[in-house]
Amino acid sequence: MIERDADLSGANTLALPARAERLARPDSGEALAGLLAGRRGDEPLYVLGQGSNLVLDGDLPGLTVIPALDRIDYRVEGDQARVTAGAGVVWDRLVADTVARGWRGLENLSLIPGTAGAAPFQNIGAYGVELADVLDSVEAVAVADGRPVRFLAAECEFDYRDSLFKSRRRGEFIITAITLRLHRHGPCRVDYGGLAARFGDADPATLEPAAVRAAVIELRQNKLPDPAVLPNAGSFFKNPVVSVAHYQRLKENEPELVAFPHRDGHKLAAGWLIERAGWKGRRLGPVGMHRDQALVLVNHGGARAADVRALAGAVRADVRERFDVDLEQEPIPLP
Ligand SMILES: Cc1cc2nc3c(=O)[nH]c(=O)nc-3n(C[C@H](O)[C@H](O)[C@H](O)COP(=O)(O)OP(=O)(O)OC[C@H]3O[C@@H](n4cnc5c(N)ncnc54)[C@H](O)[C@@H]3O)c2cc1C
Repeated sequence: MIERDADLSGANTLALPARAERLARPDSGEALAGLLAGRRGDEPLYVLGQGSNLVLDGDLPGLTVIPALDRIDYRVEGDQARVTAGAGVVWDRLVADTVARGWRGLENLSLIPGTAGAAPFQNIGAYGVELADVLDSVEAVAVADGRPVRFLAAECEFDYRDSLFKSRRRGEFIITAITLRLHRHGPCRVDYGGLAARFGDADPATLEPAAVRAAVIELRQNKLPDPAVLPNAGSFFKNPVVSVAHYQRLKENEPELVAFPHRDGHKLAAGWLIERAGWKGRRLGPVGMHRDQALVLVNHGGARAADVRALAGAVRADVRERFDVDLEQEPIPLP
């Protein structure tokens, strides 16, 4: 079924008002192929999951597809388990299901918003683990002709928050399912940030994934606003990378600068730059930078895309003026 002039304000976690000219929620590969076959070749096409990494900057012309394939298949193979999830499966449901079985691999990725189908798009990651570490393969449909295609993990060109689907071949495929390879036994990964502090010297081999999941959930809930309570799209800017010379110049003026070595110089903590530029907890009209997490742009109610653009522009200008650093937006602007 295709809905015309569909309201998308509930289909993006920033809760921005927008409408889709035509909206479909196919629940099978065949339904998706049928939709693509019935589409005019030059008709714009958009694919959404939960809209948690998007800025809807106006109405979407043409066809918008929200895959609703929601099957999960589990297969045990010796010490390993293979899990295939439809694109519409809510990511954290998949994490909860596999952790409840005692399987290792997804616990660090607990509570990341979004769908299984969107997970390969930016190679989601948190607490030292990324999708690429556990992905076996991706099933997709080619937009051009509805043909089913399968990509092995090694063919997905994964990088930090990046993949072939996001970069080189953007717009060419709709992901219909992902297959993950998890471990039924073995150690959990707790050597990263807040998890290392939490589990201290515990032997990772004795930890249960449920304990790691509970810790990740607690850490995330203390750090990030829940989009269901305060609409947001997670980190609004990427952490910028600057040259060694630029880093040293900044560090002389700002001894507390938060930065990490990177292959091209130093990666700076965007949240720290925004806080230092005076934007933490500050509002501009109905939007603002979160009071506890300066990197998260929040909608306090009734915001429109123009409000988001104005705030993002003001933050970017202040950071550029103070640090000579250009911040790049993380969530994808559509259309
Ligand atoms: C509070 C909060 C915390 C977050 N924390 C993290 C984090 O820790 N780590 C992290 O990596 N991300 C994080 N994110 C970002 C977000 O959760 C991920 O990017 C997630 O994968 C987006 O899923 P989605 O279903 O909402 O995709 P959407 O936002 O709907 O879409 C994102 C992109 O993927 C494309 N896409 C979606 N589904 C498909 C499909 N089936 N086939 C092809 N393309 C598709 C869309 O076209 C779009 O370009 C966070 C977001 C929020 C709001």
